[in-house]
Amino acid sequence: MELSTLILVCSFVIGLLMGSFLNVCIARLPKGESVIGGRSRCLSCGKTVRWYDNIPLLSWMLLRARCRDCKAAISWRYPAVELATALWFLRSASILWRDWNFTCDFCNPYQMQTSLVLQDLAVLMVGYLLIGLMVMDWQTHTLPDSFTIGGMVLGFVLICVHAMYLAPGEGEIHLHRKVNLNSAGAGRSTGDLFITGPEAVVLSRVAAIFGAMLLLLVFHWSYKALRKRDGMGMGDVKLLGMIAAFLGWWPAVLALFVGTIAATVYAIFQMARGKADRLTELPYGSFLAVGGMLAAMAGPMLIHWYAGLLR
Ligand SMILES: [Zn+2]
Repeated sequence: MELSTLILVCSFVIGLLMGSFLNVCIARLPKGESVIGGRSRCLSCGKTVRWYDNIPLLSWMLLRARCRDCKAAISWRYPAVELATALWFLRSASILWRDWNFTCDFCNPYQMQTSLVLQDLAVLMVGYLLIGLMVMDWQTHTLPDSFTIGGMVLGFVLICVHAMYLAPGEGEIHLHRKVNLNSAGAGRSTGDLFITGPEAVVLSRVAAIFGAMLLLLVFHWSYKALRKRDGMGMGDVKLLGMIAAFLGWWPAVLALFVGTIAATVYAIFQMARGKADRLTELPYGSFLAVGGMLAAMAGPMLIHWYAGLLR
């Protein structure tokens, strides 16, 4: 087997296991239970799940979606989360492998490689957390802080590491900027240094996090003023902050845009079918998470396309 195939197979298996752990988080975090320790139990009969009935994907199929003891139905959500996570890891591994082997004739390949790999890791992590949050908000209308605030911290640490690996002079902001593009591809600028590259990267990410949260808070306040009730919770605000921490400002705006449109379409559809009225609470966080996934996958591409339309 070739090395690249082996890596893809391993990433799929690791994804299945991480998906299995995500199921534990989804079941326990909204109830405030610990995710470490304690064997999984059947929700109907309370019997401990045997290890061989706890194999991701396979056990659910072999048991035909029923508990071995009490024959109660096991939700399709378990294998769905495992499969989705495995596919996400598979996709991330193939992109990571491509960027790890990045070569370039006119730039410093080591710098580019590090920067690309760190971005890929951010996309992998935010996607994993978003799959969990999407299901949790849909089922329980809660977005646990351990995922949203924890993710925000993780994303911020990752951008700090990224800032340490910038090329000399990369990202610097100068007053009276005169830029000569040199052969290394990075701008060599002259003029008074305003802030250094690492400072610019870290500060702009801090601004993105607070900006994204503030944007959603403004939405929240205006909605409340217009409709005299809460349209969303603080969990949604922290969720958008987390997306910004991992991906930056524009992807967070894209996530908000897509999430809001998707939620509106869903609400209209449900009202038309008579399954919801104007007071039904929507799992807005789930739609934001869908927008976040889209931004993580196609964000840079979509934003370039949109900028191209405006030009
Ligand atoms: Zn049972």
